Amino acid sequence: MTLHLGLTGGIGSGKSTVAEVLTRLGAFVIDADALSRATTAIGGAALPAIAATFGEDMITSQGALNRDRMRERIFSDPAAKQQLEAIIHPLVGHQIQQAALNAEQSGAICIVYDIPLLVESGHWRSKLDKILVVDCSEATQKSRVLLRSGLTLEQIEKIMASQASRTERLQAADYVIYNDGISLDELAAQIQQMGAQFGL
Ligand code: ATP
Repeated sequence: MTLHLGLTGGIGSGKSTVAEVLTRLGAFVIDADALSRATTAIGGAALPAIAATFGEDMITSQGALNRDRMRERIFSDPAAKQQLEAIIHPLVGHQIQQAALNAEQSGAICIVYDIPLLVESGHWRSKLDKILVVDCSEATQKSRVLLRSGLTLEQIEKIMASQASRTERLQAADYVIYNDGISLDELAAQIQQMGAQFGL
C-alpha cells in the first residue's frame, strides 16, 4: 500500500527543506511548483494554449513564456490571471496524477505531494491519505524569505495574505512539523522520526 501524503506550508515555512529530507529517506516527492514552471519554460506544454489565448508575442524568441509581458498583462487585466491558471492548473494536475501513478506502479511506499496551495485548493485533499503541514511563526517566515529572496517585506506580506492562514492550515493537518527555533539538523532528525509513521 502506498501512502499519499500532502505536504504544505506557507511561504518560507521550510516545505522544500522537508521535501528534500523526505526524498533522502526514500519518499517519492512530486514538486507541483517545478511542474508548473516547466509548463511555461522552453517547449512547455502550456505554451500553445497561451499563444492562442494571449497572442504569439507572449512567447519569447527562445520559445518560453515571456514572463515580464505576462506580468504586465495580469497587472492591467486581472481576468488574465484566471485565464492563465485555467490553462496551467489542469496540465499540472494531470502531470501530478501521472507521476503519482508511475511511482505507485514502481512500488513507492510514500508519495509526497509538495503542493503550496494544498489547503486552499480543496481539489487535492480528497485524493490524499494524510496531510503534513510545516509550520512556523509569521515572523520567522518573513525573516527567512527576506534573507533568501529579493522580495520586499511588503511583497512578502501580500503573498502571506493571499495564502491560507496558519490556523486554516493547522486545521487541515494530520501531522505538523514546527520548524521554528530549531537547526536544520534538528529538523532533519524530527522528520526522520516522523518518517517511520510513513513507512520510511
Ligand atoms: P517557499 O514557499 O518560498 O518555496 P519553503 O517553504 O519551501 O519556501 P524552504 O525553501 O525550505 O521553504 O526554506 C526557506 C529558507 O529557510 C531556506 O533558505 C532554508 O534553508 C531556510 N530554513 C528552513 N528551515 C530552517 C531551519 N530550521 N533552520 C535554518 N534555516 C532554515
